[in-house]
Amino acid sequence: MFDEQDLTPVDQLGEFKLIEHVTRDFEVKNADVLKGVGDDAAVYRVGNGLVHVVSTDLLMEGVHFDLSYAPLQHVGYKSVVVNLSDIYAMNAKPFGVTVSIAMSNRFTVEAIDALYAGIHKACETYGVDLLGGDTSSSQAGLGISVTAIGSAKEEDVVYRSGSKHNDLICLTGDVGSAYAGLQVLKREKAVFLKNPNMQPDLAGFDYVVGRQLKPEARKDIIAELAKAGVRPTSMIDVSDGLASEVNHLCRQSGLGATIYQDKIILDHETVKVAEEFNLPGLTMGLNGGEDYELLFTAKLEDFDVLNSFRGIQIIGHMGAEGESAFLQMVDGSTAPLTAQGWNHFKDEQ
Ligand code: ADP
Ligand code: MG
Repeated sequence: MFDEQDLTPVDQLGEFKLIEHVTRDFEVKNADVLKGVGDDAAVYRVGNGLVHVVSTDLLMEGVHFDLSYAPLQHVGYKSVVVNLSDIYAMNAKPFGVTVSIAMSNRFTVEAIDALYAGIHKACETYGVDLLGGDTSSSQAGLGISVTAIGSAKEEDVVYRSGSKHNDLICLTGDVGSAYAGLQVLKREKAVFLKNPNMQPDLAGFDYVVGRQLKPEARKDIIAELAKAGVRPTSMIDVSDGLASEVNHLCRQSGLGATIYQDKIILDHETVKVAEEFNLPGLTMGLNGGEDYELLFTAKLEDFDVLNSFRGIQIIGHMGAEGESAFLQMVDGSTAPLTAQGWNHFKDEQ
């Protein structure tokens, strides 16, 4: 028996430390498993120089989505897309998903049909097959777990750990917009709860609301980089926030990094949300999360190609071994790049 005082609440560790804690005694036993825990997806050899990559995510009602403003179609679409994003982050091509759902009996068949319409749309858009899943009842809202499987040539797989000193740090798209969209949706929910006759006013926020409710994975960028002959040296998708992901690349590559404030692109709607809600735009960009953009490093010799790429911004460079991650401000001062990734045990949406 444990003494009550010796027990540790999970929120004392937080998500990342908890994962480290529960996986600490597991070592990879099979020679064909090239990567177990610790990257966007696990990687294992299947023969003929090919590997499969596999990634799984769990979305819980009330934590990851709120059905008072997220249409079930979008929840279904997003549950697939966030997994595919992890497969692309390994520079692999997804081919299938399994989808497991747990739902309480307050859900109707029509509601589950809407969820699956979104899952179907994502499978069509990204060319992946539904491989199976599991179905259960739930006492605590809707839960959706999706596992995505993809394939790649072994030599093409890009890990979080591959970057080198002086590599360029590149970011696709813009960041902070999904977080901005969430703020708008939460505000409209609060208005609605006060006065159910009010219709939500999302005018002027279409882009950021769309980024929150129905994100896309950067399949296009993976294809374009391959076409341009640029092979990232390390890569991760931005789910927990840019600052958190830069720190992951640093930690796993054993290097420092500097990123530049003026290179962090915010969409004009994100800026508008920052102003209206009196939030710091830069912090939204660095820590908002759920962007599902790709953060990757590349060799200096790829500078010209990457610099001319639409939709890719070079935001900094990797530092030396043993250094940490810094943010260089416009005025030339630097500050540690601190990660405040979503911690679902502490900061529930
Ligand atoms: P991502 O944000 O890319 O989905 P996570 O931060 O969720 O990655 O997970 C980081 C790593 O930890 C991944 O390799 C994931 O498979 C692993 N992981 C997360 N939760 C668990 C768990 N409960 N048991 C084992 N491994 C886990
Ligand atoms: Mg990821």
